[in-house]
Amino acid sequence: MKKKVLIASILVLIIALFSLFLILYNGENKSKSIDEMLKDEGYSDNDISIILKKVSKDNYNDILEFGYDKSLIDILSSDDYDEKLFDNYILYYLKNKDANINDIIVIVNSGYDLYNYPASSLLASLTEEKYYINDNVARYLDYGNSHDVSPKKIVGFVNSKADLGFYSESYDSNLDDGNLVLVNKFYHLKEDYTPSDLISLGGQYNKGGNNKMRKEAAEALMKMIDAAKLDNIILYNISAFRSYDYQVNLYNRYIKRDGKEAADKYSARPGYSEHQSGLCTDLNEVSDAFEGTDEAIWLKNNAYKYGFILRFPKGKEDITGYKYEPWHYRYVGIEAAKIIYEDDITLEEYYAYYIEKNSD
Ligand SMILES: [Zn+2]
Repeated sequence: MKKKVLIASILVLIIALFSLFLILYNGENKSKSIDEMLKDEGYSDNDISIILKKVSKDNYNDILEFGYDKSLIDILSSDDYDEKLFDNYILYYLKNKDANINDIIVIVNSGYDLYNYPASSLLASLTEEKYYINDNVARYLDYGNSHDVSPKKIVGFVNSKADLGFYSESYDSNLDDGNLVLVNKFYHLKEDYTPSDLISLGGQYNKGGNNKMRKEAAEALMKMIDAAKLDNIILYNISAFRSYDYQVNLYNRYIKRDGKEAADKYSARPGYSEHQSGLCTDLNEVSDAFEGTDEAIWLKNNAYKYGFILRFPKGKEDITGYKYEPWHYRYVGIEAAKIIYEDDITLEEYYAYYIEKNSD
């Protein structure tokens, strides 16, 4: 009996060892054959070690089908190569064989659906912009290919709709946006809109006839004026809330004086004036002479701390649609003001990215 058990055990052991040998042998054989197959395609030993290191086993067949292509090694050798995106690189590369490999990698890595757009360094650099919005990519490329400006400028310009032409489209301003409501040459307030919480600025805070602002904005303005005073800077409102009818008169007067085209550059059409929102103020002096004064410089550097932004900055005329107005400050709240100040963007650019994009 004991002998039979021993023989059976030995047999089981032999079978087990033989099976193990077969498994190990086959495994080795398979990986060897991939090496050989890659070699047959024309890849060097160095190429093969890169492929084996950077590509998951599931994709070996793709490479064999693909045949030899030096660009494959360039893609795999890039510091920004991401193994999970292997298929995407290959598909996009096959459509853009003459493109720069780095551009292909940047575009694929962006994660946006850009398969149908030709690879280019312009497209790659656009996707790296902080305020890039994928829905706008066709317009970015149109504008960028016909204007020699930076990707940041292209993104800001198109996000603001400026490429469509001022007053070319007309939307109702969304009052639900609260302090961030956009009023510009595309978004307008209704004829009968008057904010319900206007309060009057008095005393040292005001020297003008239009002295009303929405409560939160007025309180922030008074706080800012108090703070400025501690720095020996004297600020005061000269024009805040203006009604639709007031703007009708103002705009018509300007047209009579300078003509419509000129008036549109510095005055808003009725309904399109931010002054109707009750969230902005013209401070001290509506005049180009205000630029460079201590007051204008203090405002530019400090207003954001109180939730105000320089609404029509220098160099952004093509985005806002208005010439530089160093006196016009708009309340947006501290959080938005800080981003707008630090990222050097306009309310148009902020709105497109942080509000409009997310409401789709
Ligand atoms: Zn103004």
